[in-house]
Amino acid sequence: MTMDLLGIKPLGIIARSRLFPIVPQFIMLSVYATLFIGSVGVGYDSKIAPYIANMNLANQLVWNIWWPVTLVVAVIAGHLWCAVCPLELVNSLASRVGLKRKVPGFLRSGWVVPLFYAFILFGAGKYLGLREVPRTLAIYLATVVSLAFISGLIWEKRSFCSYICPLGSIIGMYSYIAGMEWRVKDPKFFDKCKTKDCLTKRKRYKLTGHSCTSNLFPAKIHDNRHCLLCTHCLKACPDSNFSFALRLPFADFFKKIKLIPAEMGMLMLIIGFVNNSWHALVVFTLIPLFFCLLVSRKSPGPMLNAFMILLIPTTAAAHMLHAFRGIIWNWPVYKYNFIDPLGVRTATMLADKTLVIDRSGMGAAWKLLGNTTGLLYGVVFAASVAIIMKSPLTEEIDWKGKVLLVLSVALYIASFYFKV
Ligand code: SF4
Ligand code: SF4
Repeated sequence: MTMDLLGIKPLGIIARSRLFPIVPQFIMLSVYATLFIGSVGVGYDSKIAPYIANMNLANQLVWNIWWPVTLVVAVIAGHLWCAVCPLELVNSLASRVGLKRKVPGFLRSGWVVPLFYAFILFGAGKYLGLREVPRTLAIYLATVVSLAFISGLIWEKRSFCSYICPLGSIIGMYSYIAGMEWRVKDPKFFDKCKTKDCLTKRKRYKLTGHSCTSNLFPAKIHDNRHCLLCTHCLKACPDSNFSFALRLPFADFFKKIKLIPAEMGMLMLIIGFVNNSWHALVVFTLIPLFFCLLVSRKSPGPMLNAFMILLIPTTAAAHMLHAFRGIIWNWPVYKYNFIDPLGVRTATMLADKTLVIDRSGMGAAWKLLGNTTGLLYGVVFAASVAIIMKSPLTEEIDWKGKVLLVLSVALYIASFYFKV
C-alpha cells in the first residue's frame, strides 16, 4: 500500500505551504493561552474539589477531549499532533536566538523523559491534583512552555522535543502502529543531491523549510518513532522528495526496531498508569518478563527488546480505552462546561445537591465501548502473535521463548480485565 496522501491536492498544498506548520502552531499557542486563562483562577476548594475537575471547561478540554483525540491520532497517523504543537514552536524559535550548545549527556541518555513523566504522575498528578485542580493545569501549561523556551535558549535544535517531552515519547511509541509514514520518495535522488538541504547544518535555523532538527537523516527514516511530521524537510528539498504514505498498520513492528533502556522505563510508567495498579505491573509484566529472560539466557538482549516492544500495541489500546471512558463519563457534563466555563458555580450547585447530572442515557455508549474493548484487544493480540511469528525482532528467539511471549501478551491483556 503506497498511496501518497500528499498527492491529495489540499493536503499537498498545506504540507508544501510555508505557512504550515507555523500558523497552526501559533493558533495552538493562543489556545494554550486561553486554556491558561480559563484555569488559573480556579484553585483548590475543599467544598467543590470532588466536582470541579469535570466542570471547568479548560480542564475538560485538555483531559477529556484533546488527550483522547491525541492518543487516537497517534495510533492512526503517528506524530500528527507534534506537527502543530505550540511547544515545538516555542522551542524552535528560542533555539534560533539561543546559545546553540551541544546537548549534554544526561539529556541524550533519554532518562529525563521518564523522570519528567514520573514527576507528572506522582508529583503533579498525585499531590498537586494535575487532573483535579484547574489551577494546577494552568501551572503545568506555563511550566512546559517555560521549559520549551529555556531549553531552546540553551541547547541546539529541538532539544525539548527530542530529550524532555514525555508526550512526544508516548506518541512516538504508539506511532509504530500508525497506518501512515513519512518517508523519502526516491532514495536515489537523495544520493545524487549535492546540497542535501534536508540535512545540512547551514539551513538548521531557517524559520520554515529548515533541515531536520530531530536528529534524523530524513532520507533514511526507518520507522515512525522520531519523525514529528513537521514537513520542513519537504519544503527544504528542491525536488519535494518526500511522501506521507498509507501503509499497513503495525508495519514498524516487522522491522528491527529497538527501545533504549530509558524508553523501556517510560513504557513501564505508562503501563502502571494505564493499568491503574503498580501491583499489576509486577504480576502481569515483570514476572512474565523474568520467565522469558530465564528461558533465553543465551540471548537476553533480543528477548528483553522483543518483550518490551510487544507491550506497546496492548498499552496503546488500553490507553485509548482509558481515555475514552473519560469522554463517555463526561458527555452529559459538556453542556454545563459551555454554560459556566470556569465551572465554580456548577460545581457549587453539585456540592449543594441543587443540581444532579443525569448519566442514565449513556447505556448505548458504554455498550459500544464494551464491544470496542473486546475488538481492540482481539486485534492487538492477533497482531502481537503475527509479530512474534514473523518479525525479525524475534528471529534470535527459539520456539520456547516465542510461546512464552505469546502467553505474556495474553496475560498482559488479561490484566485489564482482572484487578490485582
Ligand atoms: S515532542 Fe512534545 S513538545 Fe515536541 S512537538 Fe511533540 S508533543 Fe510537542
Ligand atoms: S524528517 Fe522531516 S518531517 Fe520528520 S521531523 Fe525531520 S524535518 Fe520534520
